[in-house]
Amino acid sequence: MKAVRLEAPGKLALCEVERPEPAKGELLVRVEACGICGTDRHLFKGEFPSNPPVTLGHEFTGIIEKIGGSVSGFREGMRVTGDPNIACGRCPECQRGRVNLCRKLQAIGIHRDGGFAEYVCIPQQQAFELPDALPPLYGAFCEPLACCIHGVDLAEIRTGSSVIVLGGGVIGLLVVQLARLAGATNVVLVTRGEEKRRLAEKLGATASADPSTGDIVARLTALDGVLPGGADVVIECAGVAETIEQAASLARRGGTVVILGVMPQGVKVEIEPFDLLFREIKLMSSFINPFTHRRAADLIASGTIKVESLISRRIGFSEAVQAISNPARGGEIRALVIPGLG
Ligand SMILES: [Zn+2]
Ligand SMILES: [Zn+2]
Repeated sequence: MKAVRLEAPGKLALCEVERPEPAKGELLVRVEACGICGTDRHLFKGEFPSNPPVTLGHEFTGIIEKIGGSVSGFREGMRVTGDPNIACGRCPECQRGRVNLCRKLQAIGIHRDGGFAEYVCIPQQQAFELPDALPPLYGAFCEPLACCIHGVDLAEIRTGSSVIVLGGGVIGLLVVQLARLAGATNVVLVTRGEEKRRLAEKLGATASADPSTGDIVARLTALDGVLPGGADVVIECAGVAETIEQAASLARRGGTVVILGVMPQGVKVEIEPFDLLFREIKLMSSFINPFTHRRAADLIASGTIKVESLISRRIGFSEAVQAISNPARGGEIRALVIPGLG
């Protein structure tokens, strides 16, 4: 079968490999779609630890082709989405219920073969059923959505909350929708892309702002701004040093900042502890998807979270090698790799 493999940092190739066989407790899934994520580009550049040679792709969905021994609750032909993050269940963090912080965390598509392939093998506990009638590509959004749900949970958004979302990529556009669902009255998306701002407003943002024209903090938080005094919650979804530095200034007194965007290892930003202390700003980070994948699958299966407009391109494996080795195209939200497209 075909697979897009990271052979070493900086070396990505379309390979012909053996189709895997499901071991005991595993499912063989025929991949219908797998999203290209910023993490895949970081892995390509060696900015994140991984386990090459390995097939990348951690945002996949597909149909169960074959079932290994000792599997229950699944049948061949069933559509599933995969939670790529496998916790050991035994380390001190897992024993405290903090499975996303597992010391032996193994991720499908990072440490073991993932979904940029015709087939992927996954442990049954990582699979979650999706309806037959769901458009086949939608399941590829369950993984990023599950990460966003964790961030929104940590932010404790309530009815009537005000929220500023920094970054208009797939994460920002999913967080906008989740914030409205959680009851936020005002949700402002900040991004340079004009089309992304327009899309955010269609998906539920009550306002949007372009950070490249003038002082964004003053414009949003001034007395005559969109959110005078700042927002209850600011969620950083861009993974950019500049926006992380801005985030605290956009929060109101006693407000919460959640870092959801992924920055390359080693990057430092300036924060002012005096300001955080005197305004009692809660600064938190949100890492992956502890126990949120089923909720993500339900939100997508029910159509509660809209994903169709987040699909920018559908590409085959050979184009995928190009797409992962290069920065995302301007304005692109999500490119999906679809086996069979070449
Ligand atoms: Zn991802
Ligand atoms: Zn563990």
